[in-house]
Amino acid sequence: MEKKRILSGMRPTGRLHLGNLVGALSNWRALQDDYQCFFMVADYHALMSEYEKPVGLFDNTREVVLDWIACGLDPERSVIFRQSDVPAHAELHLVLSCYTPLGWLERCPTYKEQMQQITERDLTNYAFLGYPCLQAADIILYQAHVVPVGEDQLPHLELAREIVRRFNNLVGRQVFPEPQGKLTQSPRLLGLDRRKMSKSYGNQIDIADDEETVSKKIMTMITDPLRVRLKDPGHPDDCNVCQWYKVFSPAEYDAIADQCRNSKWGCTDCKKRLAAVVNELLAEPRAKRKVLAADPDAVEKILTRGAEQARARAAETMREVFSLTGLGKKP
Ligand code: ATP
Ligand code: MG
Repeated sequence: MEKKRILSGMRPTGRLHLGNLVGALSNWRALQDDYQCFFMVADYHALMSEYEKPVGLFDNTREVVLDWIACGLDPERSVIFRQSDVPAHAELHLVLSCYTPLGWLERCPTYKEQMQQITERDLTNYAFLGYPCLQAADIILYQAHVVPVGEDQLPHLELAREIVRRFNNLVGRQVFPEPQGKLTQSPRLLGLDRRKMSKSYGNQIDIADDEETVSKKIMTMITDPLRVRLKDPGHPDDCNVCQWYKVFSPAEYDAIADQCRNSKWGCTDCKKRLAAVVNELLAEPRAKRKVLAADPDAVEKILTRGAEQARARAAETMREVFSLTGLGKKP
């Protein structure tokens, strides 16, 4: 039986961070055997917000793929490709934009949040509003059933389902499956400043950070604001450092929380231990990344092969879309 398909992507806006790892990448790695997976470097999606300084996309694409392979994605089992190498993404985006009411896009909570939070760049452009519409096209092109993402992407997926439903209804056939999101145990990791960890907020720890950088960054993390002195009882539920133990070393969490609550140790010791935990977790990806990065052609080879596989699958879908929508020559 043919395996069900997965599509997911990440934007080449910088190196990947722990949020990307625990919120999405860990699931991607785990699902490779059970699904046919398409993993995409979403450079069109990045351009929507990075258009003022776009050249970084080339180098960041390489960084993203290095991080992926370092964390266990396998180009032999999964199709790893760059969105702009498959022109059908742009084509289907245009088709779906015909089926997408403006109000749906304007009401999207992620859009509203980013317009509020990101002030140093002008995101009032036409394309950025249509982000979820391109995302729907990405998913439909591979007729993916499952989309493993972090929690911030769920509103986009909800919109993608609505667009699919509308398209299916208007063409009169249930052609495309309604894509379902798949979350990990940690779908929203907070960053050093307690906002969602994000490349755009500069509050992240990168997968490729060296040991010293990781330790330094963890020392700057905001802890429990109510615990001023060592003798004050801590509130692990309100402390991001303690919460990170739940994610990165769950077996230790109860003991850590007890030490915090009963003032048995201070926040500095708690952070030092956390730095050791995170550094241990990153040791293997760091080593793997180094080996792959030493080969200047490795990433492009992976992307070239992935693009061929992705284009073939996307072309089948586009033939169907053309015939259903009356585009092109009458079949
Ligand atoms: P940008 O600021 O450029 O949007 P980002 O850090 O939000 O970058 P994306 O490329 O948008 O990263 O997201 C890639 C994947 O990682 C998505 O599935 C997203 O939901 C997930 N993700 C991003 N940040 C987090 C986080 N803090 N916790 C859990 N998952 C996350
Ligand atoms: Mg994001």
